[in-house]
Amino acid sequence: MPQYNPPLRDMQFVMHEVLKVTDEFKALPKHADVDADTINAVLEEAGKFAAEVTFPLNISGDTEGCKLDQATHEVTPPKGFKEAYAKYVEGGWAALSCDPEYGGQGLPFVVNQCVYEMLNSANQAWTMYPGLSHGAYEALHAHGTDAQKKLYLPKLVSGEWTGTMCLTEPHCGTDLGLLRTKAEPQADGTYKLTGNKIFISAGEHDMTENILHLVLARLPDAPQGSKGISLFLVPKFNVGEDGAIGSRNGIYCGSLEHKMGIHGNATAQIVLEGAVGTMVGAPNKGLAAMFVMMNAARLGVGNQSLGLTEVAYQNALAYAKDRIQMRSLSGVKAKDKPADPIIVHPDVRKMLLTAKAYAEGGRALAIYCTMLLDKELHHPDEKVRKDAGEIVALLTPIVKAFLTDNGHIATNACMQVFGGHGFIKEWGMEQFVRDNRINMIYEGTNTIQSLDLLGRKVLGNNGATLKKFGKIIGALIAEEGVNEKMAEFINPLAYLADQMTKFTTELGFKGFQNPDEVGAAAVDYLRVAGHLVFGYFWARMAQTALREIAAADSQGKPADPFYLAKVQTARFYFAKLFPETATLMRTARSGSKALMDTDAALA
Ligand SMILES: Cc1cc2nc3c(=O)[nH]c(=O)nc-3n(C[C@H](O)[C@H](O)[C@H](O)COP(=O)(O)OP(=O)(O)OC[C@H]3O[C@@H](n4cnc5c(N)ncnc54)[C@H](O)[C@@H]3O)c2cc1C
Repeated sequence: MPQYNPPLRDMQFVMHEVLKVTDEFKALPKHADVDADTINAVLEEAGKFAAEVTFPLNISGDTEGCKLDQATHEVTPPKGFKEAYAKYVEGGWAALSCDPEYGGQGLPFVVNQCVYEMLNSANQAWTMYPGLSHGAYEALHAHGTDAQKKLYLPKLVSGEWTGTMCLTEPHCGTDLGLLRTKAEPQADGTYKLTGNKIFISAGEHDMTENILHLVLARLPDAPQGSKGISLFLVPKFNVGEDGAIGSRNGIYCGSLEHKMGIHGNATAQIVLEGAVGTMVGAPNKGLAAMFVMMNAARLGVGNQSLGLTEVAYQNALAYAKDRIQMRSLSGVKAKDKPADPIIVHPDVRKMLLTAKAYAEGGRALAIYCTMLLDKELHHPDEKVRKDAGEIVALLTPIVKAFLTDNGHIATNACMQVFGGHGFIKEWGMEQFVRDNRINMIYEGTNTIQSLDLLGRKVLGNNGATLKKFGKIIGALIAEEGVNEKMAEFINPLAYLADQMTKFTTELGFKGFQNPDEVGAAAVDYLRVAGHLVFGYFWARMAQTALREIAAADSQGKPADPFYLAKVQTARFYFAKLFPETATLMRTARSGSKALMDTDAALA
């Protein structure tokens, strides 16, 4: 059976020692009083909830899956999910970073980020029920009318009701402009929706008394394509003006998908038969309103893989110390045993360190992004808010795609550490691999994220936001450029930062002549950008750790092993993972011809 220990120490390191989030919060009137002790206490309790309440349901939920009653269209999630959710609501976890005006606790997003990382480590399938609700809360909070907010937000904030996002239809996934679900205006100002949605996560269940579906649909006179999409709130049960639950609405689960992973989450085909809904945001501007939820979800999906990377690493590490096979190439290490533990073998270490470097780098990036979200929302200076928003927008496709691709690499590596036992269900490792796989697909596939990054976020504004982030990296390079102890981290980072400008300009120029050049290079480009960002955070983490080691040294004290581990992992990252950027830049530069001039090969 797998184990999970919430990585509280590492979260504290990133938040309080590297990013110094509470110092940053002092500038935000809403969070000026939030201190480190409060954050740590909340995370400690959240860690207990994840480890003790939802983690024990991870394997059983995967084995059991969800059940649909065809007669009633009701879905029963795996045993224990409903009770765990009730505890989540009772503990006030759903309200953590929500607006106090609607019953929220108003804590910074940074706290929510860490809570969700732990919940994802413990049980991704279960965590998607509250996770999607939070996205629905954000979309409604940003674009709902006052009446909608008053009626629905308190229930989403408390967690009494959950939310979904209904975009995908059988013939339309990436290209939402193709969607056909219709919304007919009614005399009373509501709309009647008819159509079919597929793949709707947490789409039906009995964990709450109501479900609020956010549905994309077309008005009768809507323009073709993505300019004619509106967003509607369609509750499972109609809700009276007084908030009381009324009749069953015409939206139900037609069937459940049978899938590779996240079995405990109900992936529903949703049928709308004249379902009553109200519009969210302006007519034909539904995608803009839905993007609030999609952006939150993209960061959330990166966080799912971060959670899986962490839990897979913890279990692989414990196994590698325990499992004995063969002797070390450099001589016997465990004389009292018939063989050495596999952790002595260089390649086993490489697999473990890969997962550790991706987990800890991902954590630093994810916490940084949510700190920027807090700034974007609450900083009194408009320029700071704008800059923060632009950088989050730039980093969002990187969080989504780089963290989920890394999760794929890391969970596979950790499964490999177990040899054949990793492939066997009882160890839980193959489930981490299966559960992670969807993260690279939904919320816009990772290819679509890379097009968003290179096409829209970088070339779309002539590299202006990339330059802003480049300045942040430049400041670190200037600060540490002469520090010999930092050279092994700063030199490769400075080299890549310098190359990045030329590389981007080159791709932009080629893309201007032939747009397929952008499509051909985008996935490689995102991975290079991901390493640039990770390189920055690993250098900052090494900087903090080296300072602590030097401080202990100057006092004649032994260094805290936590900091030694950080420096060693940074060294591993820059020596073994970061250099793939050279290959990626080369393949990106090789252009589109080898892909597009292949009609005979693909005939
Ligand atoms: C378990 C699960 C849960 C989901 N949950 C939800 C949910 O809650 N709500 C919801 O609305 N949807 C949900 N989805 C749907 C998911 O978001 C889509 O599957 C995804 O966006 C891809 O759409 P598609 O499957 O139609 O693939 P397609 O759009 O058909 O894409 C097929 C392939 O073509 C590639 N491709 C498409 N266009 C381009 C392009 N322009 N350039 C390069 N490559 C391209 C894609 O990257 C992909 O590899 C879920 C899906 C699954 C499997």
